[in-house]
Amino acid sequence: MSTTERPRILIVGGGYVGLYAARRILKKMRYAEATVTVVDPRSYMTYQPFLPETAAGSISPRNVVVPLRRAVPGAEILTGRVTTIDQDRKVATVAPIVGEAYEVPFDYLVIALGAVSRTFPTPGLAEVGIGMKGVEEAIGLRNHVLEQLDKAESTNDEEIRRKALTFVFVGGGFAGAETIGEVEDLARDAAKFYKNVKREDMRFVLVDAADKVLPEVGPELGTYGRKHLESRGIEVYLKTTMPSCVDGHVVLSNGLEVDANTVVWTAGVKPNPALQRFGLPLGPRGHVDTQATLQVTGTDYIWASGDNAQVPDLAARAAGNENAWCPPNAQHALRQAKVLGDNVVSGMRGFPQKEYKHANKGAVAGLGLHKGVAMVVMGKLKIKVKGRLAWYMHRGYHGLAMPTWNRKIRVIAEWTISMFQKRDITSLGALETPREEFYEAAKPAPAPAAKAEKAEAKVEAKVEAKAKAS
Ligand SMILES: Cc1cc2nc3c(=O)[nH]c(=O)nc-3n(C[C@H](O)[C@H](O)[C@H](O)COP(=O)(O)OP(=O)(O)OC[C@H]3O[C@@H](n4cnc5c(N)ncnc54)[C@H](O)[C@@H]3O)c2cc1C
Repeated sequence: MSTTERPRILIVGGGYVGLYAARRILKKMRYAEATVTVVDPRSYMTYQPFLPETAAGSISPRNVVVPLRRAVPGAEILTGRVTTIDQDRKVATVAPIVGEAYEVPFDYLVIALGAVSRTFPTPGLAEVGIGMKGVEEAIGLRNHVLEQLDKAESTNDEEIRRKALTFVFVGGGFAGAETIGEVEDLARDAAKFYKNVKREDMRFVLVDAADKVLPEVGPELGTYGRKHLESRGIEVYLKTTMPSCVDGHVVLSNGLEVDANTVVWTAGVKPNPALQRFGLPLGPRGHVDTQATLQVTGTDYIWASGDNAQVPDLAARAAGNENAWCPPNAQHALRQAKVLGDNVVSGMRGFPQKEYKHANKGAVAGLGLHKGVAMVVMGKLKIKVKGRLAWYMHRGYHGLAMPTWNRKIRVIAEWTISMFQKRDITSLGALETPREEFYEAAKPAPAPAAKAEKAEAKVEAKVEAKAKAS
């Protein structure tokens, strides 16, 4: 960390809000007016709406992440985790990826920690569940799914095969519905290259505690989305929960029991629990309590927005929904970040704060290649689009929303190439343990004495076994 005479704006979290707020502040700030420091345990921002396509192999993992040092070259980037904040001394404690924790002083603070998967104490979930919040999970899921097809093709044990070919997804919001849609597509395509695995041999199950999937696009498109998934052979169980999945034995509240090697958990998000150590005012569900100016309640030098903040939804309130809060999505995160950036610069100069007000512009969701739903809101008019056109809208919107031209071009180039090339179905499960093979080759040979002892033990065991048998 550099020492600085200038005031420091410390941004905690380099995701959607962190990246866009840093860019906005640097754009609006006069030269050397302040030092902007971004702290994140990852050195890159993840474009989460593309994770389902990454899991399906339509986008390479490195193209859904944006290196912070390139995207905000004017900022100081610290790779580590903010563990505590001392408001009296105005210092944050940072635990870097290596070495001792240290303190970073600040004058202005932005809280942009986002959310984490919302889980319940479901027996077996921690051991077998796979989340869908980071690029590591998306690539892990892709490799895992393809590995299950390899396993099923190479075993004569019907039980192992059935368990490998059963895929359970819990949570039917954006993340769950898009991921099951994409992964089913991947598995269907991949099965064409296997001799003994057909799509009909696979079982895809989507479970949600609510009475609909894709609530983000409204009831009509949500119903269409469910029927579409069902038409592809996906079993959808609504008003259903998963009380247990010990060792992959999945038990659902509707009485259904299945054995599955794959349990994907996308049942919503909750504000980052690290907030509880920051001493900031929190709302009933753990979000930072934030004013419409995005200032944290009771402070004039701390701002928060995105998935970790409860921000009053002024547009919805003006329309009569008195207690509305902005939902946790990229649309709000991006727009809030810009207002937040402006307000930080205004705050630094002693100017008044602007309120955040944004009316929902709609939502788009992809459900696999050439399939999707889209809702565009224009004033009181809601335009609903289904199928291929909606999928083009989904790709068009997110292709353009992807931060930096470098990544936009790479993603669009990948999509273009895949129009002429078949999907890649290589399973690279060994990526998770890259040193294993080399370790086997390089590990020291057992000492001769140890070898002799081993041989002796083997002979003894044989003699014992013979004696028992006779
Ligand atoms: C699979 C998936 C699909 C989605 N699809 C859509 C979609 O189609 N449309 C849509 O509008 N929204 C979508 N969303 C939601 C959208 O991605 C989020 O609303 C958005 O990313 C929120 O931005 P954020 O900055 O608040 O959080 P994030 O982007 O999650 O950033 C938080 C950052 O904080 C960092 N951090 C965590 N702990 C610490 C710490 N202690 N110290 C420092 N840094 C820390 C994290 O590493 C992360 O980089 C999707 C989300 C997921 C998971």
